[in-house]
Amino acid sequence: MTAPVRVRFAPSPTGYLHLGGARTALYNYIFARRHGGEFVLRIEDTDPSRSTDAAIAQILRSLREMELDWDEGPEKPGRHGPYRQTERQAIYREHIDRLLAGGHLYTCFHTSDELEAERRAAQAGKRAWVYSGACRALTTAEVERRKAAGEPWTLRFRVRPGTTTFDDMLRGPVEVGNDTIGDFIVQRSDGTITYNLAVVVDDVTMAITHVIRGDDHLSNTPKQILIYEALGVPAPYFLHMPLLFGTDRKKLSKRHGATNLEQLTAVGFLVEVVRNYLCFLSTEFDESMITWSLADLVAHLDVESLGTSASIFDPDKLRWMNGRFIRAMAPADFAARVQAYLERVGFYGQPPALRLLAAKGESALAEAIELGQLAPLPPGDDQERLTMLVAPLVQEKIEVLSDFIRLAGWLFTPLAIAGSAREKLTAIPDAQRILRAAAVCLAGLERYDVEQIEAAVRGLPEQLGVKPKSVFAALRLGMSGQPVTPGLFESLWALGRNEAAGRLAAAAGML
Ligand code: GLU
Repeated sequence: MTAPVRVRFAPSPTGYLHLGGARTALYNYIFARRHGGEFVLRIEDTDPSRSTDAAIAQILRSLREMELDWDEGPEKPGRHGPYRQTERQAIYREHIDRLLAGGHLYTCFHTSDELEAERRAAQAGKRAWVYSGACRALTTAEVERRKAAGEPWTLRFRVRPGTTTFDDMLRGPVEVGNDTIGDFIVQRSDGTITYNLAVVVDDVTMAITHVIRGDDHLSNTPKQILIYEALGVPAPYFLHMPLLFGTDRKKLSKRHGATNLEQLTAVGFLVEVVRNYLCFLSTEFDESMITWSLADLVAHLDVESLGTSASIFDPDKLRWMNGRFIRAMAPADFAARVQAYLERVGFYGQPPALRLLAAKGESALAEAIELGQLAPLPPGDDQERLTMLVAPLVQEKIEVLSDFIRLAGWLFTPLAIAGSAREKLTAIPDAQRILRAAAVCLAGLERYDVEQIEAAVRGLPEQLGVKPKSVFAALRLGMSGQPVTPGLFESLWALGRNEAAGRLAAAAGML
């Protein structure tokens, strides 16, 4: 490799950054950094019906969240801009003219109906269809006459006979018979440029040395190599990464639940974990790697020696990794992340609504965030204090950050005991007596700390002549209205003396 390494990530901005795209971006970034090269971001927005500015903004946000800083691209001007295909039309025109002058393109008047008829005939003869190339034979005069008569036309690339070969960095040599390619369109009848032409022109003019992308593009590569040949420039190296599949071995899609970075972080997966997981899909993996940083990935991950087998995205494994990562975090870092997460999902503005959503499940939460129903909001002072106090109580118990809301969200809302929680509380023998005694006992503690609270609560069964199980269940339900909470003594402590005693007394009053 003599030229400085330059790679690019070239998303089509039609939605959120899905995991396949995130992985492609990640591998390009890692490859660039390992080789002291440059990472270019190019927005392939030539399909105006599907590309949106909102999607571009989301993709940039997700890449930044993953810390995949690009060296050139949108909001980072460089020598090879502009970095949006819609702004590069003049560059495409210039290359079309060069290809025309070299005799590599010809005008085709075949309508979609005629092409469809060719296709059907091929199908009937059980032949794979490629365009017949009939318009190659038209004379210049004939072309001019038909254009002047207003017939719609396209420009097609004249595919040479023979074969096209390239050495894929993962798969090794690939050879394709050119008779299977067919003369392909490079300029549509509305004058727009097709993907294969635009991508080659961009990669040439942006001095890209290595094209690292999903293997769904494998069939485009021979066409692109033919264009490089026609332009008289060497083709870059190609590396086609195996695609991502769901656990059902079907191509990863919306059906598989949360499959884009935005959704995953919305339910509280940590971006570092998603990043590591995407890398470990294609490598040997041991648990010590769960906490790797991006710098570790750059140091250790050899993109060129990835496997070629399909990678399976398993959300349960990701969840497990997330839990392990959380438990390995310094408590202060974890608390800060919880707070940032709660702020992002708008928890501090509407804790009861978020509790309901979290209880409904992660997809409900992700959907609400995706629909923009939840606006970010920083915590008030009390909420911040409570978050810092409670985070360490759940760090050992949760796998994704939204578990915090399910487990500890009740601490942020006034007491409500409803439905099955109420039935359970009512069914505890002596519940009212237990709650009243506990409220008095907590209110009178000399020091309000976890140790004293524990001693007091543990003394209650004997003092009241009831079962310990009844005391624990009554207090848990009475303080929270929830069957599952962080540790009982720690929760009573986190509430503070007045709030804890007040809740228990109020619960007794509800019975
Ligand atoms: N825009 C293409 C996509 O999103 C990528 C093209 C390429 O990498 O060559 O699939």
